[in-house]
Amino acid sequence: GLLSSEQTGLVICRYSKHFEIEAMEGQDQGEIHKCTARTNLGSIVAGDQVTWRAGSDGTGVIEARLERRSILERPDNFGKLKPVAANIDQMLIVIACEPTPQINLIDRYLVAAELMHVRPIIVLNKADLLNDQNSSELNALLEIYQSLGYHVEKIISSRHQPAELADLPSLIDQRTSIVVGQSGVGKSSFINTLLPEANLAVGDLSTSTREGTHTTTQAKLFHLPCGGQLIDSPGIRDFSLWHIDPPQLQQGFIEIAALLGQCRFRDCKHEHEPGCAILLAAEQETIHPLRFESYERIKAAILDQQSRGLNLD
Ligand code: GDP
Ligand code: ZN
Repeated sequence: GLLSSEQTGLVICRYSKHFEIEAMEGQDQGEIHKCTARTNLGSIVAGDQVTWRAGSDGTGVIEARLERRSILERPDNFGKLKPVAANIDQMLIVIACEPTPQINLIDRYLVAAELMHVRPIIVLNKADLLNDQNSSELNALLEIYQSLGYHVEKIISSRHQPAELADLPSLIDQRTSIVVGQSGVGKSSFINTLLPEANLAVGDLSTSTREGTHTTTQAKLFHLPCGGQLIDSPGIRDFSLWHIDPPQLQQGFIEIAALLGQCRFRDCKHEHEPGCAILLAAEQETIHPLRFESYERIKAAILDQQSRGLNLD
């Protein structure tokens, strides 16, 4: 049909060849239109902003993709990085006393957030399960992150009462968030509390079916009743690191990044070099020993992955 004038839209989700686009301006602002896209636009994902034109039947055509302020990518089955979601502002990293937090995993998420230039917020879920025994260890862990300047928020998600989320709505409001974390920490419960309509399956029984579908389930953008947006998919919830190199890893550990350039040698690898500012800080424990250990473990894992990749080629 006849196409109307160009307007901006927000990509809600993508089906194989179609997109759901929400009108961002004009009389039909907030309304959803089914659209196709011109060829050669590259990949368009949930959270993208686009220009599009509506036809007389309400469906439309995407003409261009606007510049992104952030992009979440994930390797496909062939190891090639593919965009999953765009224009994310913050990553809610959910941890809990049960299953026991793995510092290594938290750090991987934090590195990913730093490299994506999105704000990480560590959300300690299942606050109702805290007691004298488990809370001292957990608090010691959280203290490491708080002293680095990271925001930590305690919540209870299982009771399905948004009131239990305390200050969270003000952190989420006006922003586009994703929720990540290890299996069993309560991500699905948390998302259901924020967004009852998501109606995600909670608990271990559904894990196997959820994993089986993550490669085919596209990310979707939701407007939250408390304000702000959530982009979610099973593949985002179990997102983890990815393909980065050691220099990127250094950038992702903020207390290490702050010291780069202070080593005696400009090409310092921070392994055995004399005058290395990072090794000195690790020795003096101005970099927390657990964080440094975590950094070294992730670095070893990356180098191992790279060497195996090279051998395969
Ligand atoms: P996911 O794998 O991260 O999506 O975790 P789920 O949302 O499926 O939750 C895993 C288990 O933790 C379920 O048995 C939930 O009922 C439970 N759970 C979730 N949130 C809370 C909470 O705030 N407190 C308690 N005690 N249990 C919770
Ligand atoms: Zn160095």
